[in-house]
Amino acid sequence: MLLVEDDRELVELLSRALRDEGYSVDVATDGHRGLHLALTRPYDVVVIDRGLPALDGLELLVRLRARAVRARALMLTALGTVHDRIDGLDAGADDYLVKPFDLDELSARLRALCRRALELHDVLRIGSGHLDIAQREVALPDGERVPLTAREFTLLRVLATYPDTVHTRPALRRVVFPDASSPSIVDTYVYYLRTKIDRSVVHTVQGLGYRLGAL
Ligand code: CA
Repeated sequence: MLLVEDDRELVELLSRALRDEGYSVDVATDGHRGLHLALTRPYDVVVIDRGLPALDGLELLVRLRARAVRARALMLTALGTVHDRIDGLDAGADDYLVKPFDLDELSARLRALCRRALELHDVLRIGSGHLDIAQREVALPDGERVPLTAREFTLLRVLATYPDTVHTRPALRRVVFPDASSPSIVDTYVYYLRTKIDRSVVHTVQGLGYRLGAL
C-alpha cells in the first residue's frame, strides 16, 4: 500500500504498525511525491491524508481517479463534518477516517479495502499470457483461449494473484479444495492445468510447493 501523510510522527507509527501486520508500505510525505508513486506503482490500497503540502489530499485523489488509478483509497482527515466527508467520497475515496482514530479501526477498514482490492483484478498476468477472471479462461500469448473448470480456475487464480509467493500444498488445499479428502488433490489439479494449458504455467519449487510459472 501507499501511505501519503505529512505528519512524521504519525507516519512512523502507522508504517511500523502496518508492516507488523504484514503489509508492504511505501511512504510519501507530500502530495506530489504521493502522486508520482501512485501513478508509477501498482498499489492495492492508498491511504491519503487530506491536508498535505504541495498538493492537497483531495486534489491528489481527483488526479489519480482522472488517470484511471483504481487502487482502493482511504482518506484521513482532521475534519469530520458531513460536507467534508461528501467531498472525500466525491473525489473518489472508498472510505474515510477522522483523526484522531483508533489503530484497530484503521486496521479493520484496511482489511476490508484489501479484500475489495482483490476484486479489482479482471485480468492476472501469467508471463506473456493472462488469466481472464470474468471468462474463467487463460489467454495464451498466441491469442488462443483455454476455458477452465471452477477448481482449475480457483487454483490458478490464487497462484496468479500472488505470483511471487511459494504456496505449500497444505495451504493450497485449505484455500482451493477445503472439502477434498484426497491428500494429492493439489498435485492432481496442477497436472490438469499443465496438461490443458502448458507445462510452464505452474512452477514446482522442490520440497516446498508451487508458484506461478510463465507462459
Ligand atoms: Ca496533514
